[in-house]
Amino acid sequence: MQGAPKHGKMITVSDGWLTCPRCRKNKRLMKVRPDTQGSRMIAYCRVCKNEILIDVNKGACFESQGQ
Ligand SMILES: [Zn+2]
Repeated sequence: MQGAPKHGKMITVSDGWLTCPRCRKNKRLMKVRPDTQGSRMIAYCRVCKNEILIDVNKGACFESQGQ
């Protein structure tokens, strides 16, 4: 559906913690540092019980799109 499969929507980070992009209630989904790098890391949200694939690029976090 969307043209750019590489990065999905940006995920809010506050005090180094990711906010769950699905429910937005879990503000401690995963911790990242400003130098964290990774792609398709799996975070499990205990609030909404979704597994979320996350891409992190120098502290900027995106929900990974695609399968
Ligand atoms: Zn959630």
